[in-house]
Amino acid sequence: MAKVKVATVWLESCAGCHMSLLDIDEAIIDLANLIEFTRSPITDIKEFTPVDVGIVEGSVGNTEEEETVIDLRNNCKILVALGNCACFGGVCAMRSSMDKADALRRAYIETESTADGKIPCSPGVPALLDQVKPVNQVVKVDCFVPGCPPDAPTIKYALNELLAGRIPILSSEMMSFI
Ligand code: SF4
Repeated sequence: MAKVKVATVWLESCAGCHMSLLDIDEAIIDLANLIEFTRSPITDIKEFTPVDVGIVEGSVGNTEEEETVIDLRNNCKILVALGNCACFGGVCAMRSSMDKADALRRAYIETESTADGKIPCSPGVPALLDQVKPVNQVVKVDCFVPGCPPDAPTIKYALNELLAGRIPILSSEMMSFI
């Protein structure tokens, strides 16, 4: 039987949701028999190819992240927003309450530990968006798995439902820790 192809990306985030994905322990061995990870921080593959499921950790805060999530959406049949940052903006969206020039100045020049700070401005540095957005404000999302991070049993349930051809419906218990 052909394996289900899955790509994962992390955008503006702390990597905690990917860590929680790996935290499903020995179940990941069973999943590895059913899933082929393509582009993912887990595989370090950098190019998108068409996949069945795309999983997004993190919110969208700069132009590179915006391009990445659009690229993933264009290459997957089902898109999953994994974690509060992807679903709602999360802690990263705190930046949206301030002007982005003020945020850059605070981060790179005014922090108490900074000496001779300079705001990065080379062409290779993606530009900040005015607002940090949850994924569904950029592309269509088919499935939301909130949590900070979602716990391993919830991720395992969601993946198993997707493997069974169903969009996961999370119980209120699964979301009670949010
Ligand atoms: Fe990290 Fe929480 Fe955001 Fe996941 S939802 S990337 S654990 S801050």
